Amino acid sequence: MVLQIRVSTDRSSNLPSHLNLTASNYRMNSFCPELVGSMSQGAAGNPTVAMVEAAFKHHSLNWRYVNMEVSPEHLGTAVQGARAMGFRGFNLSMPHKVSVIEHLDGLGESAAVIGAVNCVVRRDERWIGENTDGKGFLRSLQVVADPKDQTIVLFGAGGAARAIAVELALAGAAKLYIVNRDAARGQDLANLIGEKTAAKASWVPWQEMNTLPEEARIVINGTSIGLYDTDAALDFDLESLRPGTVVADVVFNPVETRLLREAAARQCVVVDGLGMLVDQGVIGVQYWTGIDPDPRVMRHALRHAMGV
Ligand code: NDP
Repeated sequence: MVLQIRVSTDRSSNLPSHLNLTASNYRMNSFCPELVGSMSQGAAGNPTVAMVEAAFKHHSLNWRYVNMEVSPEHLGTAVQGARAMGFRGFNLSMPHKVSVIEHLDGLGESAAVIGAVNCVVRRDERWIGENTDGKGFLRSLQVVADPKDQTIVLFGAGGAARAIAVELALAGAAKLYIVNRDAARGQDLANLIGEKTAAKASWVPWQEMNTLPEEARIVINGTSIGLYDTDAALDFDLESLRPGTVVADVVFNPVETRLLREAAARQCVVVDGLGMLVDQGVIGVQYWTGIDPDPRVMRHALRHAMGV
């Protein structure tokens, strides 16, 4: 039997969808897309796929991004499988950001300092681990402020805050106040910054950071306070935020957290967590494909997928 495949620009073609090739498929001249994706547990809830695939479609790239449910005991074989299938790279989410490192061939500068990888890139047949969380944050911050020579108050010392602190330090921040509830985590991050970068950093117990220090012009919530809770507030005197202070939040759902709402009401410049999420996706697409994807397309697709 000869299988007839028709190339059509007519979307109303009555061929089954898997045989109904569009003109753009045809131009791509291959039935074998380049593959990237994400390995995590709870993969079904990860909306990154929507924004990355929107970029591929917008830029007519014959690439696919696949969410893959991978358990910790299968991570090594999953990475080998991706290598065998010619993946161009992949994201890592919980719980694989640290454990993936032993399966890679090298690390980018900030990933090596952070000690965690959320984006693997195939370069010259080597798997290189990068961390785009902090880079995505930095990019969204840099639209409104340059952290170079700045004193910055960073709430949190978990995975997101760690990535952000390292990127801020590598971008030339002068001093980081790391405010964290857990002393060991806060101190550990301050030590890391002090030892591995040129920035100064100190851990500040939460109860000692009630008001914004005079010299600080950037404040960042790097904790999960506010996630899925529009009323949750940082235990911090928001009255001390001065007009023009840059206030950023890593929380992206809701997009407008209470911190950002109250900061905007005090004429602060606000940076939402959705920007960080989009920009880390933008950087991933750049790493994998070499193109500069349109962030507006990706943000729109992400908002649509998340219903925010
Ligand atoms: P972690 O679990 O690694 O860290 C959580 C941090 O929040 C810790 O510093 C923890 O402090 C602090 N924290 C949590 N609850 C409280 C509380 N009630 N009071 C004081 N501190 C608290 O999580 P992640 O760093 O991975 O994620 C943090 C947030 O960042 C999440 O909301 C996540 O969705 C968001 N995120 C956003 C991204 C984006 O692209 N916009 C990317 C990655 C994460 P302690 O050490 O004392 O427990």
